[in-house]
Amino acid sequence: MAIVRVRRMKNMIKITFPDGSVREYKEGITSLEIAESISPRLAQEVLAASVNGETWDLTRPIGHDATVKLLKWEDEEGRHAYWHSSAHLMAEALQELYPGIKFGIGPAIENGFYYDVDPGEGVVIKESDFPAIEKKMLELSAAKEEIRRQSISKADAVKMFSERNENYKVELINELQDGTITTYTQGSFTDLCRGPHLPNTSYIKAVKILSAAGAYWRGDEKRPQLTRLYGITFPKKKMLDEYLVMLEEAKKRDHRKIGKELELFAFSSNVGAGLPLWLPKGTQLRLRLEDFLKKIQNEFDYQQVITPHIGAKQLYVTSGHYAKYGKDSFQPIHTPEEGEEFLLKPMNCPHHCEIYKAFPRSYKELPLRLAEFGTVYRYEQSGELHGLTRVRGFTQDDAHIFCTPDQVKGEFLKVMDIIFILFKALNFENFEAQISLRDPNDKDKYIGSEENWEKAEAAIVEACAEKGLKAKVVLGEAAFYGPKLDFMVKDALGRRWQLGTIQVDYNLPERFELEYTGADNQKHRPVMIHRAPFGSMERFVAVLIEHTAGKFPLWLAPTQAVVLPVSEKHNEYAQHVVKTLKKHEIRAEVDDRNEKVGRKIRDNELKRIPYLLVVGEKEAENEEVSVRKQGGIDLGSIKLLTFAQNVTQEVKEMMNWERTN
Ligand SMILES: [Zn+2]
Ligand SMILES: [Zn+2]
Repeated sequence: MAIVRVRRMKNMIKITFPDGSVREYKEGITSLEIAESISPRLAQEVLAASVNGETWDLTRPIGHDATVKLLKWEDEEGRHAYWHSSAHLMAEALQELYPGIKFGIGPAIENGFYYDVDPGEGVVIKESDFPAIEKKMLELSAAKEEIRRQSISKADAVKMFSERNENYKVELINELQDGTITTYTQGSFTDLCRGPHLPNTSYIKAVKILSAAGAYWRGDEKRPQLTRLYGITFPKKKMLDEYLVMLEEAKKRDHRKIGKELELFAFSSNVGAGLPLWLPKGTQLRLRLEDFLKKIQNEFDYQQVITPHIGAKQLYVTSGHYAKYGKDSFQPIHTPEEGEEFLLKPMNCPHHCEIYKAFPRSYKELPLRLAEFGTVYRYEQSGELHGLTRVRGFTQDDAHIFCTPDQVKGEFLKVMDIIFILFKALNFENFEAQISLRDPNDKDKYIGSEENWEKAEAAIVEACAEKGLKAKVVLGEAAFYGPKLDFMVKDALGRRWQLGTIQVDYNLPERFELEYTGADNQKHRPVMIHRAPFGSMERFVAVLIEHTAGKFPLWLAPTQAVVLPVSEKHNEYAQHVVKTLKKHEIRAEVDDRNEKVGRKIRDNELKRIPYLLVVGEKEAENEEVSVRKQGGIDLGSIKLLTFAQNVTQEVKEMMNWERTN
């Protein structure tokens, strides 16, 4: 029998780009070659590629028709590949500087990367060692080492990493499935890794090791403690310099620091970690935000409700939250009665579903909008807690809208209106939105009818377009129970914070068997929309503090004016000024410490109080105040009543808003 050898010819494959255009390439083409075929400039900027929705190395051959998006620094996945490669570069440098060092995991994070390492018995990596590590990294970058991907069998991987005494890696390999394991190698360094990575080390031009901290292996305090080294890298030195300036400024604006200075909130170990105590001034601030939102919600026909902080276990079993939060929940609360079990509420929604169910509902009542500043409790590991941004008890500015499928779009438009009004009043000019839709290739995993999904997805996209909101559409990011729209604000330092969200839900109405009687006299299931413009009051106030550096807009400032008597003789008039201002609903206090007035001005400037009112002989005689605006602007003496009217007017203008829906 003759053996016929056929030399397989390379086929052509079709590559589809995000704009829908299609180009043909030889099978086995790499994303980098595709970029080169478009423009040399593009080839220099790309870092990785999304191939059929999966992030790939630029140098990985593509063997079939595919949708390809070339990822640059602007793309999160691009930066991710860049920083992940930087983690490897740091590991390679450490391996040269600390022979025998063992590696745990080294992922990219939102800003930069880290690597958990075990430098060996008695070896400590300190801040003073960072420059040497940075220098070594730059050396390895200059060497332009190629980064190579390789598939490896499980047995070979175990053998290879065991020989190097990399016990942490061996533990990880043992949990992987044979046939899915890959390594990445550059120079003399090989890591167990899924990738993706940059083509070579020379992309990394500017490096900074930021800090070292202890981290238990796999977050388990019974396992060894490793050293977590954080770092950040950039393709340009200038970008690193700018980042470091921003980091310095961020330190100054840390909400935990300012929160203490301005007496806004506190934590007490006696109360418990992650449970914030709102001090009087912080409470003022929070109540102003709540009042403002309540007023807007009232005009948008929301109804305020109040529900308990705990609920029977069965309620959360019905809602499905028990399955999700049960194991991370605090312990159940048992009463003397046999078998009774309550849980701290992780979400307000189940309670609101029960309010909906309190009466038979008619289509005439829809949309029904129930709002509550509802406090919820979720367990977070103590190491994860962080000021007001990661807490164990927090209050959501929650509301649930029950409506018909046809009303979804109208409700989205209205909620967007509310969010825009808030962002404007709070000077968040810079925000982005993301629409999360179904994965069109895997429609089975979603609950709810095809018809309703199509309607809701179209409703969100159209609502954004009508509002002129540029929103990024992400397929496959929707929850199994419905599509959603998320808002991200950029603060004064350009950092992005995830805040408000609007989420469609087909699941809870099903689980709670919610119904309304339609115009056809038949029973129908309502759609539920969850929405929280601030997200949580705690997190939002933290963001607001860092955005404003504690200089809150006048309408929000816990103290709007402080009266500074020039001497003890004028304390009485100062008290009269405070009383008058309070009558005009202006939040005022007196600083009657026995200090020179210059000192009082300096101290109160530091407290970021918008108006400083100096009062002495002349002011007392003429019923006047001498006004200094925050920042040292002297407005001179004016009549007390005129000042009160001016402040009232200024506040009114700031809170002025118009409804367009
Ligand atoms: Zn890796
Ligand atoms: Zn909800």
